[in-house]
Amino acid sequence: MKKTYIVIIVLLISTLGCNQETFQEKVKRIHTKALTLDSHTDTPLRFTRDDFSIAEKHDAQKTYSRVDLPRMNEGGLDAMFIAAFISQRARTPEGHEKANKETHRIIDSIYSQVSKNKDKVTIGTTPQDAYGNEEKGKHTFFIGIENGYALGKDIDEIQHFYNRGVRYITLSHTKNNDICDSSTDSVEHNGLTDFGKSVVKKMNELGVIVDVSHISDKSFYDVIELTKAPIIASHSNARAVCDNPRNLTDDMLQKVAKNGGVVQVCLLSDYVKPPVAQPKRDSAFKALRKKWRGYNDLTDEERAQAVREWHATQRDYPQKLATVSDLVDHIDHIVKVAGIDHVGIGSDFDGGGGLKDCFDVSEMQNITKELLKRGYSEQEIIKIWGGNFMRVFNEVEQNKIKA
Ligand SMILES: [Zn+2]
Repeated sequence: MKKTYIVIIVLLISTLGCNQETFQEKVKRIHTKALTLDSHTDTPLRFTRDDFSIAEKHDAQKTYSRVDLPRMNEGGLDAMFIAAFISQRARTPEGHEKANKETHRIIDSIYSQVSKNKDKVTIGTTPQDAYGNEEKGKHTFFIGIENGYALGKDIDEIQHFYNRGVRYITLSHTKNNDICDSSTDSVEHNGLTDFGKSVVKKMNELGVIVDVSHISDKSFYDVIELTKAPIIASHSNARAVCDNPRNLTDDMLQKVAKNGGVVQVCLLSDYVKPPVAQPKRDSAFKALRKKWRGYNDLTDEERAQAVREWHATQRDYPQKLATVSDLVDHIDHIVKVAGIDHVGIGSDFDGGGGLKDCFDVSEMQNITKELLKRGYSEQEIIKIWGGNFMRVFNEVEQNKIKA
């Protein structure tokens, strides 16, 4: 009798073991099934500066590099928009020419990295490219431009960049430009300029996604009023959860939902959770910035030394980072205010993004784990991981004929 009992129990356990997927297996399966997309990384900054190969695995804790192909595999990430980032400098013909050349140089570096790893990654220009690549087990890089300063005052540049594969433009960065005011600068134009308005119209017409991350609130409302296609915030959070001008208010979140667009939550700690005071760290970085003239116009040697000192300072005074749970609070809030169809993920890796437990792309599945723990369904997670963004991308493409 006792023996039969044991046999039954053993059988029961082994049957359960066979049929029941573990939590980790479920996470992996969702990542295999979903098209997973990160809508904003600044990884090309490394393509032009260092002896960097996207095919090699880097140690995030030692090098602060957050993205490469081996780690994309570990994190289960299929596709990303990588940004040609241009910092805001002089708004003069010379400044504009320099910025434009630099943008083309960064785009060249993206093509160069991809051409060396054709078997693993290709440049995408349509949503279908990413879905097709996913089936072949390949990654997709889409190109975005971070800072419309790259256009200078030349509307035709949008077409030139489109021809080179650019599919979104973040209208500004941390300072005002000739398109609009930035969220982190003083009011200059009070929203979009006349040139900015023609930029939005042209982007609609060509099928380039308008990215409102970084732009001022008034600029945002001007864009929403004018655009004929859905928009994105490629890397921004909810201001109600973390009060920062880079994040969107509830009213703005609702306007994005009405427009059919998507807000992609950002992993930059200060936009996720108000930073805790770290006076020693803050003054060390302030001194470093002063020493290297705001990191502007450095020679290659100076830049290399500045980077070494920056890393040493990071090690001496590590930042107290927000967590994946803090990030998912933003997703919860956006879902509550704007709906499940209007939220996604844009890490800002290699541009400041990185959380305590999602320090680089290899740890992306921690976000999925937290979503599952909070009761999100598989279908909802697939929307967050790329479904929503791809819907917008597709609509912008379809809409270009009508615009
Ligand atoms: Zn940014």
